[in-house]
Amino acid sequence: MKYKRILLKLSGEALMGPNGYGIDSEKLKQYTQEIKKVKELGVELAIVIGGGNIFRGVQGEKVGIDRVQGDYMGMLATLINAMALQSSLEQNEMYTRLMSGIKIESVCEPFIRRRAIRHLEKGRIVIFGAGIGNPYFTTDSTASLRAIEIEADVVLKGTRVDGVYTADPEKDKNAERYTNISFQEVYEKNLNVMDMTAFTLCQENNLPIIVFDMNKAGNLEDLVKGEEVGTLITS
Ligand code: UDP
Repeated sequence: MKYKRILLKLSGEALMGPNGYGIDSEKLKQYTQEIKKVKELGVELAIVIGGGNIFRGVQGEKVGIDRVQGDYMGMLATLINAMALQSSLEQNEMYTRLMSGIKIESVCEPFIRRRAIRHLEKGRIVIFGAGIGNPYFTTDSTASLRAIEIEADVVLKGTRVDGVYTADPEKDKNAERYTNISFQEVYEKNLNVMDMTAFTLCQENNLPIIVFDMNKAGNLEDLVKGEEVGTLITS
């Protein structure tokens, strides 16, 4: 196995399926199956899931909700997705722990780094909910930070695009996909991988990122085995 401990980042939007809102049961099932395949390979797996299918802080500003308040609402949205994913994984015979960036004691554990590592060592899938626990951050930043803290080998950013392109592939037909690219080149070419806070954290800590299509069955498993899938970003 190429990677022993991975952090998988899934966006909240990915969960909404064709409905355009909320949690789609088919998407949840599909992701659960993909996750199960890599878990069965013996990989230690942590997951950060976004909340964009339910609420984003910046969205709140448009309807008169204070930014900080909106960000906390966004963090709670990620927790709702995390709870849905936890339930789905457990129904499929996987052991999990949900750790939250905001204390919600009746529902899940608070994030404690040493405990998170211990859970992983025991083979449990650790889901990090409620982001970092601070406003003005994103779940991409949460993914980078938690990956560094738990000493993950790589951040796997599962999206609906199959990697990083020279231009937006949904707008430009001539856009080409990179298989490998350096952090520096991503900066210089102003390519969109993650928000800058998240991206810089990975660069400064020498943590590789792989951007890949999470909707293609088998992709997650293949890249954990070391096959060339998506775009690998390294120093
Ligand atoms: N958020 C935050 N701090 C964090 C993580 C998330 O304030 O550490 C809020 C922020 O408002 C964000 C929302 O939670 O817009 C949902 O997360 P995100 O937008 O990253 O979800 P995704 O785009 O991955 O679905």
